[in-house]
Amino acid sequence: MRALVTLTAMVAGVVGMPKSAISQTREGGPAWEVHSLTRPAPRVVDPGPAGAPLPPPVDAIVLFDGRDLSRWRGANGRPAGWKVENGYVEVVPGAGSIVSADGFGDVQLHVEWAAPAVVKGTGQDRGNSGVFLMGRYEVQVLDSWQNTTYADGQAAAIYGQHPPIVNASRKPGEWQTYDIIFHRPRFDARGNVSEPARLTVLHNNVLVHDHVALTGPTAHRARPPYEAHAGVLPISLQDHNELVRYRNIWVRSLEKE
Ligand code: MG
Repeated sequence: MRALVTLTAMVAGVVGMPKSAISQTREGGPAWEVHSLTRPAPRVVDPGPAGAPLPPPVDAIVLFDGRDLSRWRGANGRPAGWKVENGYVEVVPGAGSIVSADGFGDVQLHVEWAAPAVVKGTGQDRGNSGVFLMGRYEVQVLDSWQNTTYADGQAAAIYGQHPPIVNASRKPGEWQTYDIIFHRPRFDARGNVSEPARLTVLHNNVLVHDHVALTGPTAHRARPPYEAHAGVLPISLQDHNELVRYRNIWVRSLEKE
């Protein structure tokens, strides 16, 4: 019996984890409940120091080059109300999230960001923002340098679903990069999902997601199901009331011509 218990625990992947913390993913494997506090924190990997921003490839659409927000709008149709200075754009708390004027489907997306150098708050209240593909699928932005939070909510997590493979965070105030390859979900004629959304992400050049399937849109304390949506939708950046900065944002469409 003891051997059976041990085998069951090995299959679950986590010795001693309460059964209630295990649920089944769409792909049939064991998974953790959303924001589980017992889910192990990813191992820390020092990615090395930040370098100067690299120029975008010639076929990229530059969404922000440090000068203006002409390719962005505010959420709710307002003008983008964030502050542009010194080659970066900074969240203005309360101004709301900003969305790209253009819509995108499958993309390669490069984003650079920095959490505030002056640390305030802990957990989710420390340098929180986010990069939302199609306005629905969030790659979390958070100051995860020596800052504990639930694993599926730390920097580079696919929020509420997948922690990064490792924690490749730099210190607060230092520039960090996300290189994201996103494949949008596909829906059949009835609006049922035929292919889930998939994400590959490099955080500071370190692989942190390898073509993982999303369970649906990302959400707080929930994993809602997919709902059919358009094939191109804006990218958005989150106002989470903290002074996160962004620079050098560019995108390449991966949609077949
Ligand atoms: Mg966020």
